Amino acid sequence: MNHLPSAITLCEVGLRDGLQNEKTLLPTATKVELLQGLIDAGFKVIEVGSFMHPKAVPQMADTDEVYQAVGEVPGVELRALIPNLRGVKRAVDCGCKKVKLNVSASRQHNLKNLNMTPEQSVAGFADCVKAAEENGIAISGSISMPFASPWEGRIPLADVESIIEAYLKVGITEISLSDASGMGVPNQVYQMCAHVRERYPQVSWWLHFHNTRGLAMANIMAAMEAGMTQFDGSFGGLGGCPFVPGAAGNISTEDVLNLCDESGIVTGIDIVKVMALSRRMRELLGHDLDSCVLRAGRAKDLILD
Ligand code: ZN
Repeated sequence: MNHLPSAITLCEVGLRDGLQNEKTLLPTATKVELLQGLIDAGFKVIEVGSFMHPKAVPQMADTDEVYQAVGEVPGVELRALIPNLRGVKRAVDCGCKKVKLNVSASRQHNLKNLNMTPEQSVAGFADCVKAAEENGIAISGSISMPFASPWEGRIPLADVESIIEAYLKVGITEISLSDASGMGVPNQVYQMCAHVRERYPQVSWWLHFHNTRGLAMANIMAAMEAGMTQFDGSFGGLGGCPFVPGAAGNISTEDVLNLCDESGIVTGIDIVKVMALSRRMRELLGHDLDSCVLRAGRAKDLILD
């Protein structure tokens, strides 16, 4: 383990990827308060919500209002997930300056849901890129299930490359590999990360792991060893995935912070503040959360002096 980075950037996605999978609808004011708590904890990148159709994802219907309430925060990127051009328009209207598109790497999933190949979906994002550029909004893309999907199992690397190239073709150079199905394994993650970093050096990469089979932390380690330095996490391990049976949430942010703090990897984020927010979230949602550190405390909290 000689190749771990000295610092990483964590994006907190609990307010989006987490809350969109919860039955409880939190009041807008509570979301704003949580978002301000995350900013105070030191996050420089936060996924605030999404501009999906409110009927499809009612939990995110007030994302616009959350943006309006918080405004621009210097030095902090507040990003939102969008499905299409309408999402860019909502971003413009509420003052959101960073949007993220998503496509499934599963050909069958994409064909079944959208009657398009993943590459056709990405080519269709060209209008979003143009509108975002015209309005001073940064735009990134995500590839969901790049490692494996419930429909076809392992995804061939060539398929992932072809989607990356489709993104590059429409002018998107910030790309997230998002293991929504929680089916990635460390050796595959290492190989894919090392390969795409070398092949597409112009890309700013993000990695997004769900802990469905307990491998998210190992996958983060594998990605770090391959040189990756940008990761998503969800406070309290909040989340799931609507179309993946038994899906668990994202890796808990405080678990990643504990790993980094104990290993000397700088994150700039205060784990104690994040744990307090996770406890608050546990109260708000009224159920236990999937976070080791939240359950057991930090190792250093146990050392008696
Ligand atoms: Zn996710």
